[in-house]
Amino acid sequence: MFGKRINLFKLLGFEVRIDLSWIFIAVLIAWSLSTGLFPFKFKNLSTEAYWIMGIIGVLGLFFSIVFHEFSHSILARKYGMSMKGITLFIFGGMAEMADEPPSPRAEFMMAVAGPISSILIGLAFYGLLILGKLGGWGTPVNGVLGYLAAINGILAAFNLVPAFPLDGGRVLRSALWGWKKDLRWATRVTSNIGVFFGIVLIVFGIINFFSGNFIGGMWWVLIGMFLQSAAKMSYQQLLTRRALEGEPVRRFMKKDPVTVSPSTTVDSLVEDYVYRYHFKMFPVVEQSGRLLGCVTTKDVKEIPKEQWAAKTVGEIARACNDGNTIGTSEDAVKALSRMNSSGNSRLMVVDDGRLAGVITMKDMLKFLSLRVELDES
Ligand SMILES: [Zn+2]
Repeated sequence: MFGKRINLFKLLGFEVRIDLSWIFIAVLIAWSLSTGLFPFKFKNLSTEAYWIMGIIGVLGLFFSIVFHEFSHSILARKYGMSMKGITLFIFGGMAEMADEPPSPRAEFMMAVAGPISSILIGLAFYGLLILGKLGGWGTPVNGVLGYLAAINGILAAFNLVPAFPLDGGRVLRSALWGWKKDLRWATRVTSNIGVFFGIVLIVFGIINFFSGNFIGGMWWVLIGMFLQSAAKMSYQQLLTRRALEGEPVRRFMKKDPVTVSPSTTVDSLVEDYVYRYHFKMFPVVEQSGRLLGCVTTKDVKEIPKEQWAAKTVGEIARACNDGNTIGTSEDAVKALSRMNSSGNSRLMVVDDGRLAGVITMKDMLKFLSLRVELDES
């Protein structure tokens, strides 16, 4: 679903990124505002004026979406959920969570924060519009303010539809979860609504398409498809978490993993380890058995090839941290969320400063598929 992401800035500890698809959509929105909506609503302005309005409109939209996602993230952090950051992609924003919310209340507060922030920011733009009209700020300024007030209202309304994983769906899920104390059931019900709403949007889009509104129709179809697959995926994800819950990391880890000594040269690391075992990460272990850290193919790539013979693994290794290690008795769900938030699909399993094994996403998935198979029979 995601292509290449670009890191924009860090604010209050959250990394804000844009997916490349967002640049495409930003250009498309600026174009349709400058050549469609604004000339239609406000006559007799120059082409440049429409384009400036369009570009400022898109920047305002960007700001509005980031503000919406930030409010989710801040609430999530308040309830102790770890956040990966905020990514803007083709259909808007996404605050990326590594875990499920800890309680119905936490989910409710976190979900409702987004639409509330959109309503507030929409009202703020509307207030500015009134000031602009009283103060005679001119059509271009007031036009953009009016657009931003309206688009935030639309954002709030769309997100409040009770279709999971939209904000409204999360609100409904938290209520059902609190009522029946069953997160799995609540997720199934709300993600079914999500799938249904996705289909409604697709049908709506097709009707639009055939009645002549090609671009608008296409958009609804795409949004519907996206929502449908996101709803299915979130339920699948929950089932995965449920199946792994309570299983200790020990159960999935490979004992006796291949390790590298810190004195190995980068040259030999590539030839004798990377090409031989095809792993992207190797634990670096001292002769005494103490775990120093790990070295990844990414670390190797940062070193110019001419230096591979001279540099040693010890010099380029990364120290152990929360993103690449986990304890033997920790829950497998925790390993999964750690992999999710750090982007590492292999973690070193540590027991009292020594390497006990390596756990991989692949091994956990294998376990899951076996469990599903046995449950079915
Ligand atoms: Zn939201």
